[in-house]
Amino acid sequence: MKNDFILKGNICYSETMDRLWVAEQQYVICVDGKSAGVFSEIPEKYQGLPVKDCGDALIVPGMVDLHAHAPQYAFRGLGMDLELLEWLNTHTFPEEAKYASEVYAKRAYTMYVEELKKSDVTRAVIFATMHVEGTKILMELLEDSGLSAYVGKVNMDRNGGKDLEEKSAEKSLEETKRWLAETDGRFQHVRPILTPRFIPSCTDELMRGLAELQKEKKLPVQSHLSENPGEIAWVKELCPNVSNYSEAYEQFGLFGGDCPTIMAHCIWMEEDEIEKMKNNQVYVAHCPQSNMNLSSGIAPVRRFLSEGIPTGLGSDMAAGYSTSIFRAMADAIQCSKMRWRLVDDTQKPLTVEEAFYLGTKGGGAFFGKVGSFEEGYEFDALILDDSNIAHPQKLTVRDRLERMIYLSDDRHITEKYVSGRKVK
Ligand SMILES: [Zn+2]
Repeated sequence: MKNDFILKGNICYSETMDRLWVAEQQYVICVDGKSAGVFSEIPEKYQGLPVKDCGDALIVPGMVDLHAHAPQYAFRGLGMDLELLEWLNTHTFPEEAKYASEVYAKRAYTMYVEELKKSDVTRAVIFATMHVEGTKILMELLEDSGLSAYVGKVNMDRNGGKDLEEKSAEKSLEETKRWLAETDGRFQHVRPILTPRFIPSCTDELMRGLAELQKEKKLPVQSHLSENPGEIAWVKELCPNVSNYSEAYEQFGLFGGDCPTIMAHCIWMEEDEIEKMKNNQVYVAHCPQSNMNLSSGIAPVRRFLSEGIPTGLGSDMAAGYSTSIFRAMADAIQCSKMRWRLVDDTQKPLTVEEAFYLGTKGGGAFFGKVGSFEEGYEFDALILDDSNIAHPQKLTVRDRLERMIYLSDDRHITEKYVSGRKVK
């Protein structure tokens, strides 16, 4: 079904990491779910298309959440006084075990997807739990929401406690294959992603099996890397054969290259790990709010950007309590200032332009041409009404966008589009 249209307003998008394009009172054109570009006058061939005049509102690309845990939404804002491993055992694993119940999964996931629909997020890469039925429910809800997502059934065959552990590597792989078979071809906007939780949760046998599956089905992979010093020490104990955490994934072929990979956090990185991420083009999901809440540390994002490592932002719901990627942009800027001041004064803090890039085009690249209004990009857009953020002085459009990063919430998002589909 054709759904071509034009939005008129104050259009902002990233061209490059440090170049924000601002087009005041111009037109962005959606044809077949993709941007046909931004124009000061409507070109001849698009003259017949309906034009929606957004007045003085801002029009920006939709935001990309590169790392979130849907089942953890239920306990957002709780347990923020612990570090990673304690937090997992005290709050996370007991909550995730409840998703064995389809009734509970449906109730809780409905709440998460409703929130995501209202938020600034148009695309997300999401962990479910190890339970197949619950994961399918999450995929169905996301598909119905109109959002675009990757969803992973989590693999974990060790260290999950009696209620959140698959009985064996074989059983975990069997369940993963069943999940893939039962969801194959069922969704238009939701895709599967292999999801070994992290090295401490997965035996070598399981990782080998997942690597085979990855090669066979050409699936992407998501996991966690170097979040917390205690976690890293544990990985060293569990994998005495490798010299660092990255190698614990790489030894199985689950670390970029032919295997599109997102690693969340990447805080405590050794030099040769950074080199490997660059060579293998492993995506970093930078989750600054989570990293502050669990006292994990401050990721070297400036390094990632200057090395050309693909990087985006993640909420890491619920170690991060906010679904907002505008909020993640503000957090990323603030964290980078602390790193510059306290850790390494050769690595200058992130600018607003860079943070905006990370939350749109940076993370969007994992989905293809996503996160910009340049010609050929998926038409993911937010219309932002900032008229209730009072100011006595005149502000430029760029300044207004900066204030949205710091001051906006869901109420400022009046409309939202994913690949040209209106979802809010
Ligand atoms: Zn996570």
